[in-house]
Amino acid sequence: MDPIIPLLGVLLLARIGRSGPGLGRARALPDVGAEDLDREMVAKVQLLAAKVSPIPVVITSGKRSGLRQARAMIAKIERGEDLRELYTSAARDGRLDALFSLPRTPEAWAPVLEDWARRGRSISDHMHGRAADLRIWQWSPSQYDQVVATAKALGLRTNRESDHLHLELPG
Ligand SMILES: [Zn+2]
Repeated sequence: MDPIIPLLGVLLLARIGRSGPGLGRARALPDVGAEDLDREMVAKVQLLAAKVSPIPVVITSGKRSGLRQARAMIAKIERGEDLRELYTSAARDGRLDALFSLPRTPEAWAPVLEDWARRGRSISDHMHGRAADLRIWQWSPSQYDQVVATAKALGLRTNRESDHLHLELPG
């Protein structure tokens, strides 16, 4: 067998298993913006991971640039999700319609999303590092309930979205 293949597997596991800086017991997938989260959000996720340990707390999405936010939204559409249900205020005030009038590419959407974020009309708390998504497939239903209850007790808002638990700071 080609020795390159197992070596790559080990390197990949090491990279995925790496803790983001300052995340305590929580871990983060690589390159998801976890290291750029708001300090208050990092502190909450650290506390959450410590309180629910040994339940694994893995961040799958943290702070999003315009491009990252656009990719996340287009991926949701491709999975068949309804953005109007997920982004209710943007659906109400026409921001979603503005995006839908553009070509459905991250490159077309990103500058618009960034412009809104600069003007305080951000489409998602992820763009300010005030939201983080956690992987849920490793949790049993009772573990899921325990994480949600603990997050709420820490003052976080929670929302279950298809394949992850979305957490955000209030306000
Ligand atoms: Zn989220």
